[in-house]
Amino acid sequence: MGNHHSLSKYADYTAALLGHQSVATIERHAEVTEAGVVYPLWRVTTPGRRRLLITAGFHGNETAGPLTLAQHLPELVAHARARDVGLTIYPCVNPSGFAAHTRYNASDEAPNNDFLRYELRNGVWVDVLEPGQPFVRHALFRGGPKETIALRSDLERQPRPDAALDLHQDPYLLQALTYAYAFGDRAPFRPLLAASAAHVPVALSSIVDDGVRTDDLGLIALHDGSITDWLHRAGVPYTAALETTTATPLPASHQVNLIWLRGFIDLASAR
Ligand SMILES: [Zn+2]
Repeated sequence: MGNHHSLSKYADYTAALLGHQSVATIERHAEVTEAGVVYPLWRVTTPGRRRLLITAGFHGNETAGPLTLAQHLPELVAHARARDVGLTIYPCVNPSGFAAHTRYNASDEAPNNDFLRYELRNGVWVDVLEPGQPFVRHALFRGGPKETIALRSDLERQPRPDAALDLHQDPYLLQALTYAYAFGDRAPFRPLLAASAAHVPVALSSIVDDGVRTDDLGLIALHDGSITDWLHRAGVPYTAALETTTATPLPASHQVNLIWLRGFIDLASAR
């Protein structure tokens, strides 16, 4: 895939996003330069009494989330406005990865899982805890790729959201499946998984990654230093990272993403 095509892909995405300026404030909050190309980083905001933070596109080859947000923004904004929930959306965190359809950015850096570190009892700091692994403390990680630093510094200037949803895809499993990473009480997520199952089978009690297994609802509690983990530690009551596999037909991924996006708007409004 040539560079010209890659450039036009994010330019096309930007154009689609900016087409919604009548329903939301869409601003360039930062820019990153990757392989000599300057990519604007967009932040979409709407007003409201409660606030939902939405992120998508940490992994460039997981395109469904960024596309759902660009294609369905007006209906999401309407759903949120009716519940007095403001949205803060970072719709495509890793634009050079999105443009080239690569997991990492054009410098081959991984923008995900770089928000927290954990200190183990032996004094070693790690970026992911084994299930149930004890730790002494956690700390905000200040390093990471430029995309992560730009997002984190923008988020730190803003009030803590009432809920946060991060849209991902799983490029490894070969079937159409969905599951989610979440913490704490599972009850709020049960109806979202049930509604999703009408569109995509939920990966129940199954291995989805090395040593990572979903529970009987299709949920995983993994302290992996991701934005979801960070915001959970920061006291945001509802945080989740949603997955559909990249083998899932795009329209079905959109439906699952929309179920969770609307559901998280509702959770934020009920606080
Ligand atoms: Zn991902």
